[in-house]
Amino acid sequence: MSLFQTIKTPVVTYQQPVGLFINGEFIKGVDGKTFETINPHNEKPIVAVHEATEKDVDIAVKAARKALEGDWKQTTPSERGRLLTRLADLLERDIETVAAIESLDNGKGVTMAKGDVTASAGCIRYYGGWADKIVGQTIDTDPNSLTYTRHEPIGVCGQIIPWNFPLMMFAWKIGPALATGNTIVLKTAEQTPLSALYVASLIKEAGFPPGVVNVLSGFGKTAGAAIAAHMDIDKVAFTGSTPIGRQIMQVAAKSNLKKVTLELGGKSPNIVLPDANLEEAVGWVNLGIFFNHGQCCCAGSRILVHEAIYDEFIELFKKRAEQNKVGDPFRTDTFQGPQVSQLQYDRIMGYIEEGKRAGAKVVTGGDRQGSEGYYIKPTIFADVNDDMSIVKEEIFGPVCTVQKVRDEEEAIRVANNTNYGLAAAVHTTNINAAIRVSNAIKAGTVWVNNYNTLHYQMPFGGFKESGVGRELGSYALENYTEVKTVRVHISKS
Ligand code: NAD
Repeated sequence: MSLFQTIKTPVVTYQQPVGLFINGEFIKGVDGKTFETINPHNEKPIVAVHEATEKDVDIAVKAARKALEGDWKQTTPSERGRLLTRLADLLERDIETVAAIESLDNGKGVTMAKGDVTASAGCIRYYGGWADKIVGQTIDTDPNSLTYTRHEPIGVCGQIIPWNFPLMMFAWKIGPALATGNTIVLKTAEQTPLSALYVASLIKEAGFPPGVVNVLSGFGKTAGAAIAAHMDIDKVAFTGSTPIGRQIMQVAAKSNLKKVTLELGGKSPNIVLPDANLEEAVGWVNLGIFFNHGQCCCAGSRILVHEAIYDEFIELFKKRAEQNKVGDPFRTDTFQGPQVSQLQYDRIMGYIEEGKRAGAKVVTGGDRQGSEGYYIKPTIFADVNDDMSIVKEEIFGPVCTVQKVRDEEEAIRVANNTNYGLAAAVHTTNINAAIRVSNAIKAGTVWVNNYNTLHYQMPFGGFKESGVGRELGSYALENYTEVKTVRVHISKS
C-alpha cells in the first residue's frame, strides 16, 4: 500500500500521509499491517493507515534517542522556539485542510474543528515562546559555594492520545515537550489517526531535525502498551480513560519507573444556584455537556440545580438542548455531529437504556438520530438518584443528569461525591457564594458563570482519580524537565 492517498472531502481534496512517521520519513510498519479508519457520519471506511507494532515503537525510540543526543541537543532554545512558531504558522496556513480532516475522521462539526486548529496553533506558538525562557535558580548557601539548578529535558517522551480532540491533544502534548528540549514518540488513537499524520508532514516542512517527533498509528494493547513498558522511554504522558491510566502507571512502575503524567476521565458537576442569571446559565450548561458531542473529559455531566429554580431550569434547558443542530459535520451550522465510533455509540446507548430501566425520567432525547451514522440525540435525564450508573459513571456522550439540591451545602456535598475531580462550575451572581463553592470543590478547574472555556495559558488536570500532573500553561513545563542541582566548591586559592 502506498504511503500517501488522495482523499476527497466536501471542502478540500488533499494528499493524506498514511505511513508511520519515523525519523522524519513516512514508512511502512515492520509487520506490514494496516487498519482502516471509519467515517462516523456514514460508517464507511475513509482510508487504511499503516499500523505500528512493538517493533516499530522500538525503531521510533531509537530515532528519538539519536535525535536527543545529536541534532536536537545542538539546537538552541531560541531555534526550538522558532521551529514551534513556524509549525503554528503552517497549521494556520492549512486550516481548511486540517479542519476537514478532523471533521471527516472524528465527526466534529467543521466550524468547531476550525476552532480546534486555531487553538492548537495558539498552543504550539505559546510553547514556542517559552522555549528560551526555561531558567533555573542560583542558590546562596554559603560564601564557599556556587549552587545552581538546570532544568534539563527528561529525554525521550512517549505520548499516548485519545480520539476526542485528535489535533488539540497532539498540540497539548508536543508543545511543552519540545519547548523544553525533549524528543517524542507519540501514538494517536486508532479511531482518529489522520490529522496527526498530516501535521507530521508540517513538522517536516517546518524543519525539525529527523527523529525529534515520531508519530505512530496503532492500537493500545500493542503499540500503546509497548510505549508504556519501553525501557528506553524516560517519560510517558497519557490522556484517556481512568482504567487505562491506572494500567500505564503500573506498567511504567514495573519497567524502568519512567515518569508518568495522566489526564483521565471525569464526572464533573455543574451547579446552578437560585440567584444565577438563568438564561445565561442554561446556555453554559448546554455547552458544558453537549459541546463536542459530550466527548470531553471535563464535560459537565452532573447538573445540580437549586430546588427553588429546578422546574424553570428543566423547562429552559430542554428547550435549549432541542435547538442544538445535530447532523452532518460538514454543514457549517452543525453543533453536534456523530459519536466517534460504533463502540462509543453502543456504550452510550447502553447507558441511556440503563438510565431508563433504573427509572430516570427522559426530559428530552434518549434515542438515536436518523438511521445512518453514530448520531445520538442530546439527552437529559431528571428524577435520578446517586446510585444510578448514569449519575456515577463517565458516559462520554451527549447525556446528562439533572439533580435537585436543597442549598449550597448540599450542592457541594453532592458535587464532591465522586472519585473524579477534573472540573466543575458554579452559576451565581453572588460573589461570595461563587468563591465559597470554588474553594470547596475538589477539582482541577472550577468555572464561575461559564463552562468548557479552556485556554492554553491555563493549567488543566485532575484531582483524585482524574489524573496526575498538569497540562498547559507554565505548569506543563515542570512535567517535561528534570531539575539538576550543581554545587561548586569555591577554593580559597
Ligand atoms: P482508552 O483509554 O482505551 O484510549 C485512549 C488511548 O489509550 C488510545 O490511544 C488507546 O489506543 C490507548 N490505549 C488503550 N489501551 C492501552 C494500553 N493498554 N496501553 C497503552 N495505551 C493504551 O479510551 P477509549 O477506549 O478510546 O474510550 C473509553 C472511555 O475512555 C470513554 O468512554 C471515555 O470515558 C474515556 N476517554 C476519556 C478521554 C479523556 O480525554 N480523558 C478521552 C477518550 C476516552
